[in-house]
Amino acid sequence: MYQMLIDGELVDGSASLDVVNPVTGQAFATCGRAEEDDLQRAVAAARNAFPGWAALSWTERAVYLNALADGIEERGEEIAQLLTDEQGKPLGQARFEVGASVAAFRYFSAQEMLPRVVVDEPTSRVIEHYRPIGVVAAITPWNFPLILLSVKLAAALATGNTVVAKPAPTTPLSSLLVGEVAAAILPAGVLNVIVDANDLGGLLSAHPDVAKVTFTGSTATGKKVMQSAASSLKRLTLELGGNDAAILLDDVDVDEVAPQIFNAATFNAGQVCMAAKRIYAPRAKYDALCDALANLANSAVVGDGHDPATAIGPIQNQMQFDKVMDLIEDSRRIGTIVAGGRRLNRPGFFIAPTVVRDLPDDARLVQEEQFGPVIPVLAYDDIEEVLERANDSEFGLAGTVWGKDVDRAVEVAMRIRTGTVWVNKHLDLRFDVAFGGVKQSGIGREQGDDGLREFVETHVVSIAKA
Ligand code: NAD
Repeated sequence: MYQMLIDGELVDGSASLDVVNPVTGQAFATCGRAEEDDLQRAVAAARNAFPGWAALSWTERAVYLNALADGIEERGEEIAQLLTDEQGKPLGQARFEVGASVAAFRYFSAQEMLPRVVVDEPTSRVIEHYRPIGVVAAITPWNFPLILLSVKLAAALATGNTVVAKPAPTTPLSSLLVGEVAAAILPAGVLNVIVDANDLGGLLSAHPDVAKVTFTGSTATGKKVMQSAASSLKRLTLELGGNDAAILLDDVDVDEVAPQIFNAATFNAGQVCMAAKRIYAPRAKYDALCDALANLANSAVVGDGHDPATAIGPIQNQMQFDKVMDLIEDSRRIGTIVAGGRRLNRPGFFIAPTVVRDLPDDARLVQEEQFGPVIPVLAYDDIEEVLERANDSEFGLAGTVWGKDVDRAVEVAMRIRTGTVWVNKHLDLRFDVAFGGVKQSGIGREQGDDGLREFVETHVVSIAKA
């Protein structure tokens, strides 16, 4: 039984939870699960640990963060195997996620926000100090359970906050292993990891002793978090959904970009917030792109993440599987499915990579976030038109522009209203570069200087000089 971390102790909690392997659709492990009193103990522990942790210097906290990085690295293979078991992703990608998590702790351990003298005049000296906020609730989804948790923990802990982490109930195990590692390293209460049955997020984000919520998940849940947080005016970072456009310009070589677009749309079985979710091709290249993507979809190896041949794993859970299948059925009625369009004839939550063409712009697959390996391909006639269509979305997370003339591609990228636009590449995320959404894709940023600032309050000391 995998255990939770509360106040420095590994505990079973008041209840338990079965975790399903998406390859089989069957439970394969059990873990401890919190009820309300466990959550209260976790928040109280984080509150009690806060003054001591906040009082440490950046260098002292860095020692702990590096020890966490070492601890995760030592158990890296075990964590990666478990991540593939619970999430379904190919093992190579799970190993990469573990490596990225280790790197996140190391990167944030090396950061320091020194006090800044902003006024130094004959009569006045003003200094900005950057202070931790307090207890942070870190709430994460099931698509990248480990790296999304690690980035939140590393930034929150480096800046001197204490944390109650709550992973998604369908992928809690890799987060619990991070808790196990932390139990032997961090002072009691600095990090608490609890599991719920999708029932404690509201309580956690409304809790009066939680000063900040850092949340990654869907836009719908993000709105609930904002409502819950309003009661005590909590600080918020919300990393929410996306419906990213990929725009191919008319000078692209279709054979060259099609594999990159396919990967951008189907990496992690399409369960990526910044996946390419709507593909726009110039009309003259539309047929060629649809054919190339269909060929790639038909030849992609879909299967168990533990099989080294697998490129695309299953959908992570039954609810998401049903949602993606529903979008496929809706698309079948109004568009043309040129590849896939069906579940695989085997247990588990497998969907054949699917390419759909000839959809109207108001199709659900174009308007909504599919979060699965289903690619709508749309034709356009001129740049002004495609920009208007790409920007006509309540989402604004990221996007890509593909073209041989890089200056022109950058000009187009500059007109896309999202937090990030990649030109001739995708998924290039770095800890030193801010990431986050505009419009309903989120509030605030993670990573980069902006990401660190999300975990501090500016404390101004203004001194009269004699
Ligand atoms: P979700 O919103 O259903 O769940 C996310 C987390 O919120 C889970 O831990 C869940 O238990 C918790 N939760 C549920 N109800 C809550 C409540 N009332 N208050 C607080 N927390 C609550 O999201 P999901 O389905 O797990 O993840 C998929 C979504 O996440 C997609 O929309 C995707 O685009 C988004 N996402 C965004 C980013 C980003 O960086 N912007 C990254 C990954 C995923």
